[in-house]
Amino acid sequence: MEPLTEREIRAAFINCTKGEAKRLSVPRDLTEQPWEDLDFLGWRDPQAPGRAYLVTTGDDGRARAVALRAASSAVGQQRRSMCSMCLTTHSGGVSLMVAPKAGKAGQQGNSVGAYICSDLACSLYVRGKRDAGVGARLHETITLEEKIRRTVANVAAFVAKVGTA
Ligand SMILES: [Zn+2]
Repeated sequence: MEPLTEREIRAAFINCTKGEAKRLSVPRDLTEQPWEDLDFLGWRDPQAPGRAYLVTTGDDGRARAVALRAASSAVGQQRRSMCSMCLTTHSGGVSLMVAPKAGKAGQQGNSVGAYICSDLACSLYVRGKRDAGVGARLHETITLEEKIRRTVANVAAFVAKVGTA
């Protein structure tokens, strides 16, 4: 994806208030992120480990960011579970992330949940740039390009669900 600036990321949040988007933690090392290998940028709030965020640019090139709450990592620590974005299997490295929906639906308490790699580094697992251990990746006959496209589609579908009433 194309590199984004802090200002672009803060302006891209679809499911929190302007004030929250202004205050939430955005990585300081944005210029050092491996943008060319990212389908989306995801990060955890170092001050509040239960908070996570992701930002992606859709087909239209518009950035959309989503604020997430990660369930406690103590749950399912031993169980192997699969990330629903990149289909990597980890032991204890997948978290249930819940995003309040955008707008009125979110204010009424509606949310969307998905199992996502706890470090939100799906793009790197798909490309083999980060290792999740033995048996983490399915043996598939599809190409890397197709796996990337699938991850992008999964993330886009998740963001779209957050954004629709
Ligand atoms: Zn993942």
